[in-house]
Amino acid sequence: MIKIDGKALATKMQAALAERTARLKEETGLVPGLVVILVGDNPASQIYVRNKERSALAAGFNSKIVRLPATVTQEELLEEIAIYNSDPAWHGILVQLPLPEHIDEEAVLLAIDPDKDVDGFHPMNMGRLWAGHPVMIPSTPAGIMELFREYDIDLYGKRAVVIGRSNIVGKPMAQLLLDAHATVTIAHSKTHNLPLLTRQADILIVAIGQGHFITKDYVKEGAVVIDVGMNRDENGKLIGDVDYEEVAPIASAITPVPGGVGPMTITMLMEQTYQAAKRTLKK
Ligand code: NAP
Repeated sequence: MIKIDGKALATKMQAALAERTARLKEETGLVPGLVVILVGDNPASQIYVRNKERSALAAGFNSKIVRLPATVTQEELLEEIAIYNSDPAWHGILVQLPLPEHIDEEAVLLAIDPDKDVDGFHPMNMGRLWAGHPVMIPSTPAGIMELFREYDIDLYGKRAVVIGRSNIVGKPMAQLLLDAHATVTIAHSKTHNLPLLTRQADILIVAIGQGHFITKDYVKEGAVVIDVGMNRDENGKLIGDVDYEEVAPIASAITPVPGGVGPMTITMLMEQTYQAAKRTLKK
């Protein structure tokens, strides 16, 4: 069994990115810039945003966090986005989700310039991905594809099952697997007889959001198991959707939580920002 080490790959990629950024600056004067807009004071969002800033600075990017009160109106938020859409110093704009209930999330995602939408959640970028011409790819599934590459995990013709159909993980994951020539099934909470389906999977991607949901009864011997879940157990410990201790002995390769998919997500966000900045040179 191979334990897929996302932390190690993320560290390696971030070091390489910092070198590429330094070279880009030296050769062209261009410094990638990432703006993160945070509305309200959700504690988890505060941590995510701080981590994104730390990674951006470590990569040598310009980084800015725009903090807006939870009472901000939708119009004010859209005006803020418009400022960064038109400022060429900023190549990536990200609005941290979730947003307060009085704000229409779709309207906000639509307002971000698709060329600066480093999260890949704008309908234009989702459409490009489904059409087979991805430009900005949501970071979590993009990070999983990097893990497959790093560990030489063959997807060609393989049976892949993705559990979860969210726009940020399940759906884009399924499309990337399809592009890599896997045969893909998407499962969700209404799927009948889930274990029967998942036991056919050569590649099993789990993005449900329920701690230790996937036991060995769901997994075929020799399957590759990717655990996207980030949940807290009763002691506040971070656990995945997969019961690692039970599943690891029968899997051929598996991601742990923490240290698997999580560290790759932020790394891919930085990579997308770098690529977005570089594309402006061609304009
Ligand atoms: P989400 O929007 O809540 O989607 C969860 C999906 O799981 C839904 O499609 C839901 O089905 C399905 N589901 C729920 N219970 C199920 C069940 N009993 N059987 C089968 N399917 C079930 O969550 P998400 O944003 O995709 O995130 C999923 C997990 O990944 C969470 O733990 C989240 O914290 C984690 N996550 C981690 C990262 C990272 O960087 N590691 C990034 C993003 C998310 P329905 O559609 O039918 O409701």
